[in-house]
Amino acid sequence: MGLSSLPESCERLWLGWPGVTNEKLKVEEKDQIRERLAAEDCHPVFLSRRQMEGYYQGFCNKTIWPLFHYFPRRAVYEARFWKTYRQVNEVFYDEVMKIAKSGDCIWVHDYQLMLLPELLRERLPDSKIGFFLHIPWPSFELFRLLPWREQILNGLLGADLIGFHTYDYVRHFLSSVSRITGLEHTLGNVSVANRVVKVDAFPMGIDYEKYSRAIEDPGVEKEANKIRRRIGERKIILSVDRLDYSKGIIERLEGFDLFLSENPQYRGAITLIMVAVPTRTSVEDYRELRSRLEQLVGRINGEYGTMGYIPVWYLYRSLPFAELAALYNVSDVALVTPLRDGMNLIAKEFIAAKADKPGVLVISEMTGAARELGEAVVINSCSKGAIVDAIKQALEMPPLEQLERNKVMQERLRRYNISCWSQDFLAALSDIKKTQEQMSANRLSESMTEKLLEDCRKSNKRLFLLDYDGTLVGFKGKPAEAGPDDEIIALLQGLSGDPKNTVVIISGRDRTTLEDWLGEVGAALVAEHGGWIRLEGQKWQSPVPFDMTWKDTIRPILELHTDRTPGSTVEEKDFSLVWHYRRADPELAYVRGQELRGTLVNLTENLDVGVFEGKKILEVKSQGVNKGRAAEHWMAERDWDFILAAGDDYTDEEMFSALPDEAYSIKVGFTASKARFNVDSVNDIRMLLKRLSGDLFE
Ligand code: UDP
Repeated sequence: MGLSSLPESCERLWLGWPGVTNEKLKVEEKDQIRERLAAEDCHPVFLSRRQMEGYYQGFCNKTIWPLFHYFPRRAVYEARFWKTYRQVNEVFYDEVMKIAKSGDCIWVHDYQLMLLPELLRERLPDSKIGFFLHIPWPSFELFRLLPWREQILNGLLGADLIGFHTYDYVRHFLSSVSRITGLEHTLGNVSVANRVVKVDAFPMGIDYEKYSRAIEDPGVEKEANKIRRRIGERKIILSVDRLDYSKGIIERLEGFDLFLSENPQYRGAITLIMVAVPTRTSVEDYRELRSRLEQLVGRINGEYGTMGYIPVWYLYRSLPFAELAALYNVSDVALVTPLRDGMNLIAKEFIAAKADKPGVLVISEMTGAARELGEAVVINSCSKGAIVDAIKQALEMPPLEQLERNKVMQERLRRYNISCWSQDFLAALSDIKKTQEQMSANRLSESMTEKLLEDCRKSNKRLFLLDYDGTLVGFKGKPAEAGPDDEIIALLQGLSGDPKNTVVIISGRDRTTLEDWLGEVGAALVAEHGGWIRLEGQKWQSPVPFDMTWKDTIRPILELHTDRTPGSTVEEKDFSLVWHYRRADPELAYVRGQELRGTLVNLTENLDVGVFEGKKILEVKSQGVNKGRAAEHWMAERDWDFILAAGDDYTDEEMFSALPDEAYSIKVGFTASKARFNVDSVNDIRMLLKRLSGDLFE
């Protein structure tokens, strides 16, 4: 495997299931396995038979595998399978935790462990955690069928880098993330609370030299001669797969059958060597497939075979390297026609093995490998007609053309080989970790928090300017529609109760909502980004002139866009009109948002308003109404000896700008900001406020 090509200086350890269930092992046998594996830098994760049933045969093979390979009707959604899947991911987590140290690099592989990155992230926040999926990531329309879709996404987003074979899978994954979790990305960088997670394509390569030079091995040459002697002058078409329904083996054989029926001149002149490798034999679907395949092979051989001619040479077993490499070498055509395949290494190995001689690869466009093997004969494997045409084209392609096509692909496979693939992935993992570190350079550290608390303690005239949504309440950037919880109410009451404190909630919400929710906590309230101010115990007043005639021009435009964007709404506030699109289809909302922005920029040129983009909103607002102006109101008022301001989005930047340098300004999240410090989440702000109140009331 590619990781063996990493520098010697890099210590590594593989963790995995050793292939035998606990019930079959005595304690001392487990110890022996542990010892033997340790010598090969491996560490076993032992599982029971019941666990393997629910986890591997169940959730992995009966839920994820069919769904991710576009066979939704074969997928079963069993709560007990899911429960065992979670359990086994935790077993892996426990084993990793026995070994891993903070700062280690942990690379999690494939769909069997999609919850592991999140589990590890919580305990090893400083480790580099990579995840690579070896199967396709399906389109959102399929992925959404999974009852545990959100948990799976959260599990994966615990990683720093998530890799897929192709850009199509990256696209589908990002679309699932955006539609299910609401998290957006920029060029594959997803902002998840305190981190940015990189999502990218790394098409897995092969050990190119191993296959291109295989024929130099006398063992391989001997096997090749043996096959040639048995097949004689006939042309050989090769088909090799695990016996899986995703591989389209039945459809391929039906295509071969149709080819012989439509091209009688080829009967007796070609042999299909079909290697079906046994797999998941305990799953009913796979047993059925084998029996269907064998019936079909029997029928074709019965129909077109003669005393000296077997059209389909069928092998139901796994071949050792020498035999497989020999087959690659002697075959004239490789027929690789899965209905869906994450990558398909057989296709790459065949091309590598043709380094010195002709050979034609026919490959399904539904494989990940087809993306890199565009010079092959690329077909839609669902069409029997296409398989028939491709077989003919391959058999009749001039040898020179075959060599030319293969040369281009060989060059590509030689360069981006398996070691290049693994090193590329690990380098990208280090890069994203560095980016994260740069982004968190202004993180509010424990020592700075101590200083903040100390300054606060010493002060007598303290000002707290606190944004509401995304700063005091909310989860993962989503607003809390239900209003404030008891904890935040108590915190604000506590803080406002100290006569040395002036607490101002400075929000974009409208007056009524704000007053309903926070009218009793004892704080001053600022609604509509500074459009309204309500000092403690007083009435609402507006510091800006109230001319809202512009709304009559803008409102119909927003309404028209809302009608054409299902799920979006228009909110009318006193000083602004807001187009909300959180519940709309994200791609449609993006298009409509661009159109709307274009229209509004032109329309508002001569009006005293500005157009602003926030988290899933577009807001048209009277100029001069902003949180900066509101903050200035308090700045001018008293000689503060301690100022703390906290916010999370673009509207809070104006507030940060209005503060003196020594103020403690804190941004929730890690995007660029004028604030002096960043924290991860609402929880950190609450924790800070708790410590502040605790401190002050001692
Ligand atoms: N293989 C093998 N013996 C066989 C058939 C296949 O060693 O009889 C190997 C083959 O060399 C390839 C892998 O199994 O590296 C199959 O990988 P692929 O991506 O094509 O399919 P998967 O089984 O992962 O779906």
